Amino acid sequence: MSAAIAPARRKRRAPRADPHPAGAPKTPGALPALPPEWRAFVGHWLASAGCTVGDAARGDWEVELSPALKRRWRRQRVRLVFDPQRATLPRGAWFTAPGSGAGRRVLEAALEHPMITRRTALAHVPGAPDDGLVSACKVRGLTWGPPRLGPVRYERRVAFHAVVTRWGGLPLQESWVALIEDGGRCIETAQGTMLPDVRPREGLYQIPEALDDDGRERWMGWARAALDALLAERERDWERNTARLRDDELERLGAFYSARIEEEEERLRRRASHPEDPDLAHGDATSLKLEWERRAAEVRQRWAIRTEVRLWGLEEWSWPVADLVQELRSGAVRVRISSKVDVARGRPALPGCPGCGTPAEMLVRSRGTVVCARCA
Ligand SMILES: [Zn+2]
Repeated sequence: MSAAIAPARRKRRAPRADPHPAGAPKTPGALPALPPEWRAFVGHWLASAGCTVGDAARGDWEVELSPALKRRWRRQRVRLVFDPQRATLPRGAWFTAPGSGAGRRVLEAALEHPMITRRTALAHVPGAPDDGLVSACKVRGLTWGPPRLGPVRYERRVAFHAVVTRWGGLPLQESWVALIEDGGRCIETAQGTMLPDVRPREGLYQIPEALDDDGRERWMGWARAALDALLAERERDWERNTARLRDDELERLGAFYSARIEEEEERLRRRASHPEDPDLAHGDATSLKLEWERRAAEVRQRWAIRTEVRLWGLEEWSWPVADLVQELRSGAVRVRISSKVDVARGRPALPGCPGCGTPAEMLVRSRGTVVCARCA
């Protein structure tokens, strides 16, 4: 996880009214509209960064900055103007749009510390399928009894949001979320900016005690391991794809240089029989071979994969789970199978094999009891 690079500090001139705020229309008619959620986003961010936002004339905001932002921006307060049609700005005011000077300042400051939100995953109804583990785990020679779902309890889970960037070959970025439970197991990774199939509510309702510094440190360690594993997996995938493109390029380069070297050697042979022809002078197959090697090294270098993971957000979740117990029966054999249910999705996990404990996709009858296919 690389820290954002601090922007170089420039000397600031005294602020003055800008007759052409960035992003404002130069001609009437073309009126760019700000994204509707932009203003709310800036407001949430300023509030969470410890600023006090007050309304000012003409829909502007007068913002009393937090101590950290006072130091960063070297001012006590700032007037934010969101109206792209305003021809002139009040002295010292910032026109605030995505990509404007102020928008970039907000973005740079926001990226310096990951965003943290606390959410509760709402329970799915029903909390588990009516037939329990039937669809989660196949059985052979056995029948499932009725499922019994225990009381719902809430576990702490932390979702780590990261952007994975590949620099080799064709640059590429992907967003990922890794959800980690207490103890460090990575429960799921999902591509995108959100965990799928969860209805969230803001606030950590079911977990009263906050994480202490040691706890946070532990989660960060687990996150690092999970993101490293994810990155290694992505690199293997990317390596397969880029290797093909790189080899194609090397092959084209090879065909080009082999042809030129062949021509060169042909010319040398003709020159040996016609030493007086000036057109046949200056042959050098060796320098062509060196040039080929150099160009091939450049191609390999250009396609070499370099990756970077940047963590941009943390979600602390209060997540509903419950235990599900269900009997497997065959004649006199009756074995209780248990599984943990993700109540937010109404989805039971694979049950543990009664023999070896590993998650089992299939359970079978063997020597008077029930085990996974591997134990049987
Ligand atoms: Zn087993």
